[in-house]
Amino acid sequence: MKYKISKRAAALTPSITLAIDAKAKQMKADGIDVVGFGAGEPDFATPKHICDAAIKAINDGFTKYTPSSGIPELRQAVADKFKKDNGLTYKPSQIIINCGGKHSCANVIATTCEAGDEVIIPAPYWLSYPEMVRLAEATPVIIETTDKTEFKVTPEQLRAAITPRTRLFVLNSPSNPTGSLYTRDEIKALGDICVEKGVLIMSDEIYEKLVYDGATHTSVASFSQAHYDHTIIVHGLAKAYSMTGWRIGMIAAPEPIAKAIDAVQSHSTSNPTSFAQKGAVAALTGPQDHLNGWLEEFARRRAYAHKRFNSIPGISCVNAKGAFYLFPNISKLGLKSMDFSAKLLEKENVAVVPGVAFGADDYIRISYATSMANLEKGLDRIEKFAKTVAK
Ligand SMILES: *Cc1c(COP(=O)(O)O)cnc(C)c1O
Repeated sequence: MKYKISKRAAALTPSITLAIDAKAKQMKADGIDVVGFGAGEPDFATPKHICDAAIKAINDGFTKYTPSSGIPELRQAVADKFKKDNGLTYKPSQIIINCGGKHSCANVIATTCEAGDEVIIPAPYWLSYPEMVRLAEATPVIIETTDKTEFKVTPEQLRAAITPRTRLFVLNSPSNPTGSLYTRDEIKALGDICVEKGVLIMSDEIYEKLVYDGATHTSVASFSQAHYDHTIIVHGLAKAYSMTGWRIGMIAAPEPIAKAIDAVQSHSTSNPTSFAQKGAVAALTGPQDHLNGWLEEFARRRAYAHKRFNSIPGISCVNAKGAFYLFPNISKLGLKSMDFSAKLLEKENVAVVPGVAFGADDYIRISYATSMANLEKGLDRIEKFAKTVAK
């Protein structure tokens, strides 16, 4: 039987990060001592009070459909979060709760873009953005950056990439995969250009709380009413609350866009899981002190891994300011990223993600959301591997 697959679907590249993660997990299941640096999720448990709230919701029978865009209580809690953390005023009607931050991004792109539209995406990028743009039949326009600018786009680069067809600029700070963080002034400069040119910004702020060395995150929506009017924030609980499996994301948008997304969601997924939403309310309104310990631990691992990478001949690594990734440059070793990653997994049983997945073939991504013991073991192996390659 020959099945017809739509052009839209057939053109997609399956997620390489999920594929590598699956391969490493399979090797582990086969009894191989694999060190996995592929994970895009914190290695901490979801805080107990959040779990308890969801369990209580199930026991209370809160297991039915909810309003498609989320329960009022959660939309209010999200609006309160933006007020408290970012000084941004949103009505609950401007907040849409989605099935994960990835779903939030997909909804925004599907709702604002169509054939003929261009979406500017800085590389290295989170690998789903360009595929989501293609799924909407729009065209991704990639701006290349390197470790020389800490993987940050300059205002000149952004200005040069904008055309009359530009619909959306995707900003992700702190960044997956590089961990880079734009300063307040840098964010403002990019936002100013978008306002001037009438380009919408999709600001993916999911790593907002995971910043180091006293750095702070600034939302591009916060500079003026015009910036606010040009910005759609996508966010989620996966990273800062270790809730990746819960599938709760959120969008804060100007009212007409929120309304359109509400319609799209009502005919696709409908509401995110009812009791996960109750857990999300507990996450946003309950104690936040789990973060202190997590950040301290992440910072310790980041410092260790950063130092180790820079001590390996042929590898250099700029330090990350946020998220839980490092993005070392491996180009001096003479291997492209896919080759490097495949051989490293095969020879030394270490799983990393090739930079090519993020549009940057000279790099690999490692996640330090793993134990210090794993980091030490994995870095010993990478060092050994780099030495054999360099010969
Ligand atoms: C993890 C992540 C998300 C959202 O993840 P979900 O698990 O779908 O909530 C969104 N953007 C970036 C850049 C991410 O790394």
